[in-house]
Amino acid sequence: MHIVVVGGGYAGLAAIGEIQRLNTKVTLVDPVHGHELIPELPEALRLHDPIEEHIVPFADVLRDTGVEHIPDRVVSLNSQKREVTLSQGGTVNYDWLVLTPGTVSAYPPIPGLEQHSLPLRNAHDAFRIKARLRETKGQRVVVVGGGLTGTEVAGVLAPDHDVWLVEATPRLLPALGVGLACYARDRLRVAGVMVMLGQKLLRVEDKTLELEHDRISYNVLVWAGGIQAPRWLRNTDLPLDEKGYPRADDRGRITDRIFAAGDVWRVQTDGQEVPQTAQLASMAGRYVGENVIRAIRGEPLAPPFHPSLKGMLISLDPGVGVGWVLRGGIPVRGGSARTLKALSFRQYRLKLSRVFGRGWPFLSMG
Ligand SMILES: Cc1cc2nc3c(=O)[nH]c(=O)nc-3n(C[C@H](O)[C@H](O)[C@H](O)COP(=O)(O)OP(=O)(O)OC[C@H]3O[C@@H](n4cnc5c(N)ncnc54)[C@H](O)[C@@H]3O)c2cc1C
Repeated sequence: MHIVVVGGGYAGLAAIGEIQRLNTKVTLVDPVHGHELIPELPEALRLHDPIEEHIVPFADVLRDTGVEHIPDRVVSLNSQKREVTLSQGGTVNYDWLVLTPGTVSAYPPIPGLEQHSLPLRNAHDAFRIKARLRETKGQRVVVVGGGLTGTEVAGVLAPDHDVWLVEATPRLLPALGVGLACYARDRLRVAGVMVMLGQKLLRVEDKTLELEHDRISYNVLVWAGGIQAPRWLRNTDLPLDEKGYPRADDRGRITDRIFAAGDVWRVQTDGQEVPQTAQLASMAGRYVGENVIRAIRGEPLAPPFHPSLKGMLISLDPGVGVGWVLRGGIPVRGGSARTLKALSFRQYRLKLSRVFGRGWPFLSMG
């Protein structure tokens, strides 16, 4: 029996944490060398915060677990042959497959955007942005996209750079309530960020961008305008929805032998899509890992996935954050939100240490 997990992010490691209870062969396929703590990456853009401290090597996490890591990228899969194809042309056969490759940046057809902007989806992107920031210290950084990522990046960079945050809609942070979003906007402005709302990006040129009502210059352009399913899923025989995500049922099952979790599984509760977060990905990974075990044992799958999120927090300027906690959604702002966010990072590392039987401080905080 061979279980293959594609992607060792929040969902993939959570699934492996469950599956390792079975005494069976498990393989992780992931092109990078370690588990990237993506929600920590905006803060790692700060000058004195090494990005490496936000990556936990798979060699450490998986040591003594018997899980093999293949450092390669899946580019296609054939569910009839139960086989995934790797970028170097090799194939890996599976009996059960867990798909957790996350998402990638989406680029709308805006001339020059993909060519001139830098996304922030993983540690590789963070290294590239940081290298450019070093070259252009004190100069202008324009962040496009006022969602969770863009707002956080703007706040983190504000102390060292001339930061502009551009958002097409009239408000920031659609995932939070209006009051919290206004608080975030005001804090960013106090921190020196030029927040431009209701301005669509029309065209990007080298060092200049054209908005609906303005033309502004930039040294570094960060694109935080949206995500989409990985394009390689189109090279598979999986059923996909209109946006290119695999069609999974409410148990995370795509076919009898293939499950999805994390950003790539569009989870709905009460007809509403749940925002893709690390917290949701971890929960879904554990849930799907449990379902793989049940399926292998010929038991009924767990009841449909109904995640109960504990909160959503983002950092603004140093020492200040905003978001909500507890299932009822209690709003938090200021220093307490920032402290709770730091605690949630610590808790995640602690949980990972426990799941993989590593003693604290196996995952030291940077
Ligand atoms: C800048 C930023 C800040 C964020 N902040 C927060 C936050 O504060 N709180 C929060 O809850 N969420 C946050 N998120 C969202 C959160 O990071 C994601 O929802 C979460 O990482 C999704 O987990 P995942 O396991 O689905 O994918 P990921 O964590 O992205 O992991 C996917 C893994 O799959 C691997 N992979 C990709 N393609 C392939 C392939 N073809 N073959 C093999 N392996 C592949 C990747 O290398 C990676 O290791 C943030 C996201 C970003 C980009």
